[in-house]
Amino acid sequence: MKYYLGLDVGGTNLVAGVVDENYHIISKEHLVTNASRSIDEITSDMADVSRKAVDSAGLALSDISSWGIGMPSCVNPKTNLLVHSNNFGWKNVPVYDYLAKYLSLPTYIANDANCAVYGEVLAGVAKDYTDAVMLTLGTGVGGGIVIDKKIYSGYDTMGAELGHTKLVYNGVRCTCGQKGCLESYCSSTALIRQTKEAVETTPGSLIMELCGGDKNKIDGEVVFTAAKQGDKLAKELVDDYIAHLAAGISTFITIFRPQVIILGGGIAHAGDFLLKPLNEKLYESTFAAEIIGIPPVVRAELGNDAGLIGAAFLEKTMPPPTP
Ligand SMILES: [Zn+2]
Repeated sequence: MKYYLGLDVGGTNLVAGVVDENYHIISKEHLVTNASRSIDEITSDMADVSRKAVDSAGLALSDISSWGIGMPSCVNPKTNLLVHSNNFGWKNVPVYDYLAKYLSLPTYIANDANCAVYGEVLAGVAKDYTDAVMLTLGTGVGGGIVIDKKIYSGYDTMGAELGHTKLVYNGVRCTCGQKGCLESYCSSTALIRQTKEAVETTPGSLIMELCGGDKNKIDGEVVFTAAKQGDKLAKELVDDYIAHLAAGISTFITIFRPQVIILGGGIAHAGDFLLKPLNEKLYESTFAAEIIGIPPVVRAELGNDAGLIGAAFLEKTMPPPTP
């Protein structure tokens, strides 16, 4: 049996796990990220939590094939520099050198959204497919592309930022500084912003009732719950949200023609109430859908484990690390 060590680095938690060759997670350990600390402290904890996962699996480091890390960042495989990480405020950090001080294993690092789609294709909802596109609809919009069972992330792995593709020319300002990104319309943050604006101009909605009259309690779930119960304003907001999401996804279908589209993140919990109209809208709005068809849009099934499993198996999708 071969074993792989995965680490999912989030803004809040570091989660490490040992995964066997059948994609079963056999141990899992957590540490709080505390993202404002120094690079030395954080990389030391990344190694510690990973070593702990190996211990609790009853294994030694010599049993582990490689260490794969998913991070909210881009690492250039040619220079081995972590070019940019929003959560940590790191720029051009020699991250492999830092990690090697604390844990010596062949190490692979990829963007966390790419690890999530890879995990779903290896072991989750898309395991019967080779080509998939995934969007994670949370505070932001993460995206990943798998082609022929390998992560596709563009030249120097700087691409696949699907959440920051342009949806509206000169549109709403995005967290990345650009205007009109998919994320500015399809994140849960965007849905909450739109809802807060709408309840100002249209009082008497069930949305406010569900929030006990407190606008600050509005979240994506409340909007979908109110829409399910037939609230007119909530339905309009959900329809508009789905129309924007369909426009974004139809672009990815037209470029990549994946076999399946996977949706993760909090908003995907709306289930069929989201997926059914989304699939219909996509059929209407995608190039040559009546001839080629459209790939099904499905809900991710591994949750946070997708990123961990995808990270653990990075050695199968990335070139060997530069010594
Ligand atoms: Zn953006």
